[in-house]
Amino acid sequence: MSNWNIHDIFKSDEDLQKEVSCLKNLADIFKKNYENNLKNLTPDEYFDALKKYENISQRLSDVMTYAFLKFATNTDESGFYAKYQEEYTTISEKILFFELEFNLLEEKQQNTFITHAKGYEYILNLTKAQKPHQLNDSEEKIMLKKSLLGSSAFSRLFDEHFSRLSFEFDDKKLSEEEVLSLLHDKNRKVRKKAAISLTEGLRPHKELLTYILNMIKKDLKIECEIRDYQTPEQPRHEHNQITQKSVDALINASENEFSIVSQYYELKAKILGLDKLYDYDRYAPLDGKEENYDFESSKKIVLKAFGEFSKEFENIAKTAFENGWIDVYPKNKKRSGAFSHPATSNSHPFVLLNHTDKRRDLFTLAHELGHAIHQKLSYKVGYLASDTPLTTAETASVFAEMLVFDSIKNSLNDEEKISLLASKLEDIFATLFRQINFTTFERRIHDYKGEVPLEMINQIWLEENKKMFGNSVEMGDHYELWWSYIPHFIHSPFYCYAYGYGQLLVLALYGLYKSKKCENFVDIYTKFLSLGGSKSPKELISMFGFDIEDEKFWLLGLEEIKKLFDEFKGLINGR
Ligand SMILES: [Zn+2]
Repeated sequence: MSNWNIHDIFKSDEDLQKEVSCLKNLADIFKKNYENNLKNLTPDEYFDALKKYENISQRLSDVMTYAFLKFATNTDESGFYAKYQEEYTTISEKILFFELEFNLLEEKQQNTFITHAKGYEYILNLTKAQKPHQLNDSEEKIMLKKSLLGSSAFSRLFDEHFSRLSFEFDDKKLSEEEVLSLLHDKNRKVRKKAAISLTEGLRPHKELLTYILNMIKKDLKIECEIRDYQTPEQPRHEHNQITQKSVDALINASENEFSIVSQYYELKAKILGLDKLYDYDRYAPLDGKEENYDFESSKKIVLKAFGEFSKEFENIAKTAFENGWIDVYPKNKKRSGAFSHPATSNSHPFVLLNHTDKRRDLFTLAHELGHAIHQKLSYKVGYLASDTPLTTAETASVFAEMLVFDSIKNSLNDEEKISLLASKLEDIFATLFRQINFTTFERRIHDYKGEVPLEMINQIWLEENKKMFGNSVEMGDHYELWWSYIPHFIHSPFYCYAYGYGQLLVLALYGLYKSKKCENFVDIYTKFLSLGGSKSPKELISMFGFDIEDEKFWLLGLEEIKKLFDEFKGLINGR
């Protein structure tokens, strides 16, 4: 089965519409019973109301999931999607008071309610912590209505625009996905041509893309002013349930090890026999031969790797393959990239891929299935508490990639091992060092006074990249525009460090797993995932005896990277 089955959520569009009508009704009743009434409730009555609120929210989420997934495989459905976004907004507005009114209660009553709401303590405390950033009811309603025209409108413009872009390559017109894929080609001429094709495809749209980025920046700035956040990063850190201090520590520790990146690329230039490594050589395969992993073999590899770690993981993945959780191949008008949508316990997670049989597609499969396992396991704590902050959201996905990495590594000869280690290191560069680079780029964009001109964005982009590459990679003139296709800057500012956070966290945990120093690692780890977002990242990680606020913690992960690099160097020198 290579298409997902969204009818596991609703049998048809008619059923979806019926559910919307039903939810409108339920939301009206909820509003009538509880609005302006929270302070008169007993703790038991409050808990009961909370459960009802959870039920409506979850079903509302099913509505949005269905509409979004339909849009994701066919961007022509943007009208359909927009219609349900509006329905969602209308119904959300009715029940919005519930969280806001909670923060109008006296602290003593809040605390009594929190103590009685078993399993919801942590998330209610999070709500309580939002009090300083909350507006009054009618202001929140205006914010919600206007939000459709703010960053979400620009995100949609970005997505729809990109899905229609094509890139000229020889006589063909390629999608963004296809042209990016050619940057991994063994033939240098093809890579160079792909790099130029990407830039030439982006160039006519550079003013629009500059404008969109600036509007995202402006929207965030306004939001911060209205909600009293001190820096544009602060909402993200609070959302991620971590402190600025721990993010700074992550960034500093990683920047201090940028030399791993430049040393690696210097070595790579030598191996490839190139005097100078250009930006389009970064992803050149080392063994010179293209490895293919079609979807069937990828599936087998992933199931084996998961099974050796945990039967439960293997079983969830099997279900995903067999029961229409996954949309596998690129299609016309389908969204690019990959994701796993958590949906809700009323159905199951949904995984979108654009599998093109490359080795990195195998790791993407492992990555997204890791997410799906995490999402499925955390259904146990209920809809409201299942949502994980970005900081721990990438734990299972990156861990799953490590499992597949080790599983295939052991079966390879030295030459193949070199190629695999190289791609693992490059993967770590992409998910850690590059994301740190993205974050410092974003910091400078958002710190800039007023709208940032195109030339300035280009310059900041090159300067930040230079910090990481040093003299090891020559960035051609075309490279200056390559910030413009990165969706995270548009969809969710300051998202990217969470990848780095997750990557380093996992490397530390994976090191612990392999060291066999933690006897019941698999049990603790499964528990960790099952707890979803019902506990703070700090508490979750303390289950393994680590402290995320201690700088030394990040060094543990960086040590694991050095070990991989040493293994790689050893194999090269032993040739
Ligand atoms: Zn991910």
